Amino acid sequence: MLLHSYKITRALPCLADPEKIRVIAEIPDEIHEAFPYLNATLKGCIYNHPALTLTIKKDGKLFTLHAHHITLAKIEDEKEAEEILKWLQDLINETYEKRDQIEPNYSKGAELKALDIFKLLPGTNCKKCGELTCLAFAVKLVGQDIDIAKCVPLFSEEYREKRNVLLELLHAAGFEAPLEFLNP
Ligand code: SF4
Repeated sequence: MLLHSYKITRALPCLADPEKIRVIAEIPDEIHEAFPYLNATLKGCIYNHPALTLTIKKDGKLFTLHAHHITLAKIEDEKEAEEILKWLQDLINETYEKRDQIEPNYSKGAELKALDIFKLLPGTNCKKCGELTCLAFAVKLVGQDIDIAKCVPLFSEEYREKRNVLLELLHAAGFEAPLEFLNP
């Protein structure tokens, strides 16, 4: 067994949907050895092999596996978080047990879309970044033609939750992301 236990340590409001929460669970075990096998068997993952993160998309929710914690976004309540964590634990352990039968996949997987980034920007079209709209900024960011720090409003307290999710998404997809601003 690779993942023996998990413990929910934070439950925060989800800005993308105020009715939902974002949950962080600490894990005592190193689970990254399972990532290339999960990446091979699940559809639509974003795998960052150097950073050892794997983002799984399921039913409109995002689950990001890190070396020592798991984040769950767009969650109804802690009961649902517990169910998802149990599902992830079984998935990780079963996949790892079957690893001899799976060809590991080290590719990045699904590409990040401009629209995924746009949804996590302030959406005010304030032009402080030098672009006419937030969508134009998102298109440049996904093309790595602009620095995320140019969106100054995103780094204000008001957009802390959106910023956290976006930085994690960028990091998981292998983009340069200023993780010193990640504040789970
Ligand atoms: S600075 Fe940020 S909020 Fe303002 S237009 Fe650019 S991307 Fe949108």
